[in-house]
Amino acid sequence: MEAKEIGMDQVMILPPKPGTCPICAVKHDRKMPHNRDSLYYQMRFYQQNGRFPTWADAMAHCSDIMKAYWMGELAKRGIKISDETPDGH
Ligand SMILES: [Zn+2]
Repeated sequence: MEAKEIGMDQVMILPPKPGTCPICAVKHDRKMPHNRDSLYYQMRFYQQNGRFPTWADAMAHCSDIMKAYWMGELAKRGIKISDETPDGH
């Protein structure tokens, strides 16, 4: 990686690598939530929805059991999904 500053308008989003999730460009089990912190996911989601994704969005495709598990894991890190606004952050 070259360490020089570039403007946001110059940021190019590269397509996900083969073997990674087409939504968030991170390698993860399909049953698991997308990586909300993935820059690719955030940029792509923003372009489609006009806002940044929340953890609720990242796990929208998951089963209720998986959601419950992840909500518990996130809660351990002090993240409450119900506190997230649609605008995130
Ligand atoms: Zn994903």
